[in-house]
Amino acid sequence: MGIKCNNFRTWRWVVELLQALIILGLPFVRIHGESAFRFDIPSLRLHVFGHGIWMQELFIVLVATLFLALLFILITLVFGRIWCGWLCPQTVLVDFTSVVDRAKITGSLRNLLVFLLTFLLSVIVAASLIWYFVSPYEFIHDLMAGTLGTATWGFWIAFAVILFLNFTFLRHTWCKTVCPYSMLQGVLFDKNTLIIELDPARSSECINCSRCLKVCPTEIDIRKGFGSACINCAECIDACSTVMARFNKKGLIRYAFGTANEGRVARQSFFIIGAFTVLLLVSLIYLMMARTGVEVALLPHTMEARQTKDKLIINAYVVSVINMLDAPIDLNVTVDAGGTSLVQSLMEPVHVGPGDKNKFPLFVKIQKTPGMKTMKLRVKLIDQRKKIHINKEANFVIPNEL
Ligand code: SF4
Ligand code: SF4
Repeated sequence: MGIKCNNFRTWRWVVELLQALIILGLPFVRIHGESAFRFDIPSLRLHVFGHGIWMQELFIVLVATLFLALLFILITLVFGRIWCGWLCPQTVLVDFTSVVDRAKITGSLRNLLVFLLTFLLSVIVAASLIWYFVSPYEFIHDLMAGTLGTATWGFWIAFAVILFLNFTFLRHTWCKTVCPYSMLQGVLFDKNTLIIELDPARSSECINCSRCLKVCPTEIDIRKGFGSACINCAECIDACSTVMARFNKKGLIRYAFGTANEGRVARQSFFIIGAFTVLLLVSLIYLMMARTGVEVALLPHTMEARQTKDKLIINAYVVSVINMLDAPIDLNVTVDAGGTSLVQSLMEPVHVGPGDKNKFPLFVKIQKTPGMKTMKLRVKLIDQRKKIHINKEANFVIPNEL
C-alpha cells in the first residue's frame, strides 16, 4: 500500500475560503435591521450581533478587546504562528493572488491575469473594509445612484491602492519584517510551542531535493532548523511528503510541540493565561447580560432645598436618561423615603425614544418633622415591558435654617 501524502493545502483552502466568506459577508447579515458587526460613525455606535454598544459603554469593548488579546496570546503560546499560516488576512489574500502561479500559467497571459486578479481583490477587500463603517446596502445603493460621498470614494481608493501595492510588492515580506504580531510572537514562544520541524530522528533520510525551501513563502530552509519567520503554513510538509511518497516513505517534516515533539500543552504559563482568559470571558458575558441599555443619572437641580408655606420640605433633581436601545422606553419613576410620607412630581411614565437622551425635573416633598436630618431617597425607574429595573440613590437635604 502506498504512503498517503499530507494535504494541508486543501484544508487551508477550505479555511481561507470560509474566512473570506465570513469577513465579506458579515456586514451584509442583518440582525434587528442592522449589520451583524459594524461601527456606525454618525451615531458612534458599535453594532455587535443585535446589540448596539454606545460610546458610554466602551468598557464592554475594552473587556472584549482584552479577552481577544489574551486569547491570541494563549493560542500563540500553544500553537505558535498558526494564525499567520491559516487565518491571517495577509496570508489568505496573498494565497488568493497566487492561484495563477499555482495553475502554472506563464508568459504575458500570466502577467495580465495576475494584474486583473490583484486589482479586483484589492477593490473588493477595500470596499469590505468600508462596509464595517458604512452599511454595505447604503454603500451599494449610493454607488449605483452615483451619490457615493467624496470621503467614502477617497477611503475606498486609498485602501485599494495600499492593498494593491501590498499584494504586488510586500506579500510575505510583511510577515517576516513589519508585522507587529511576528515581532511579539518571539516573546510568546517557549520550548513547548507548536513548531514545524524536520523530524530529527529521520533527518538522514533527506535527499536534499530542496522542494521544502522552494515552496516556503518566507524562504526558510527547515533542514537547518526552525526559523522565527516560519508562519506554520505547512507548505513544506506537503512538499516533502509528496517527494518522500515516491520512495514509499512518510514526509520528513511535521508539526511538533517543541523540538522532537517533546513539549507539552499543559504547563504553568498555559494555566495562568488560560485562567485570565476564562475570567475575562465570564466578565464579558456578565456585562452583556447585565446590560440594560439605559443609563440614568440623578443630577442636581438649580433650585435649592426649601420649605413651602404648608410646612413641606421640597428638593429638586434632574433625571437624565440615555436610551441606548433600538426601541422607545417608558420608565415609571417612584421615590421611596423609607416609610416617610412624600409627594413626588413625576407621576407619568418618562418616555425616551431609541437613541435619545432626555432630562426631566423631579420634585420631592416631605412633611417636616422635629429633629429631621438629611436622608437618603431610593429612586426606582421601571419599564415592565422591557424588564428594565434601575435603582438610584439621592440625598434629601433639610435646609440649615430649619
Ligand atoms: S518553513 Fe514550512 S511552515 Fe514555515 S513558512 Fe516555510 S513552508 Fe511554511
Ligand atoms: S523536501 Fe524533504 S526531502 Fe526534500 S530537501 Fe526538504 S526535507 Fe529533504
